Amino acid sequence: MKNEKAVVVFSGGQDSTTCLFWALERFAEVEAVTFNYGQRHKLELDCAAEIAAELGVKHHVLDMSLLNQLAPNALTRDDIDIEQKDGELPTTFVDGRNLLFLSFAAVLAKGIGARHIVTGVCETDFSGYPDCRDVFVKSLNVTLNLSMDYNFVIDTPLMWLNKAETWALADELGAFAFVRERTLTCYNGIKADGCGECPACVLRRRGLEEYIASRGAEGAAL
Ligand SMILES: [Zn+2]
Repeated sequence: MKNEKAVVVFSGGQDSTTCLFWALERFAEVEAVTFNYGQRHKLELDCAAEIAAELGVKHHVLDMSLLNQLAPNALTRDDIDIEQKDGELPTTFVDGRNLLFLSFAAVLAKGIGARHIVTGVCETDFSGYPDCRDVFVKSLNVTLNLSMDYNFVIDTPLMWLNKAETWALADELGAFAFVRERTLTCYNGIKADGCGECPACVLRRRGLEEYIASRGAEGAAL
């Protein structure tokens, strides 16, 4: 793997930043791709660009604003509240998002001679997004290989990790403080520990507290 090249699907959030560190440790060359689909907070794009620059990673930003045209949702529209009713997909769901993102990432990857595509999708905290499932990623991998006659490998280092384990992975990679302080997960556009109130912050904090608790006395110093 050390002589291979990878593209990381990168949003500037906790998960994809952890994936970026994971890839930097494994591959000879790493580039990042961020999709601009009219996120509520342009700050998310700035945050991704800053992190990529700081880590010396070439950063591609692809315009995917058509996604908002197809599927207005709470991640892109201020007039839709972020909520999840029992038994329904949360309003942050965008149909086909990972299908589209990974497909475009693959076209880019092939163009720059990268075989590996790294994504932070995760089935463990499955909130009903069908295209975060492992079976979907494996199926798409086959489809992409056939569509471009190329041997892509889609890497999903977080697929079976819970949020606490994702923090543990960041820590193992020597990136715990970086991920905690520099990434943006919050739906209200506040970096690091965020607003503390939105579903993304609640999930992130729960995982962080669980990880810190699991480290005992050492964790208290984190
Ligand atoms: Zn928040």
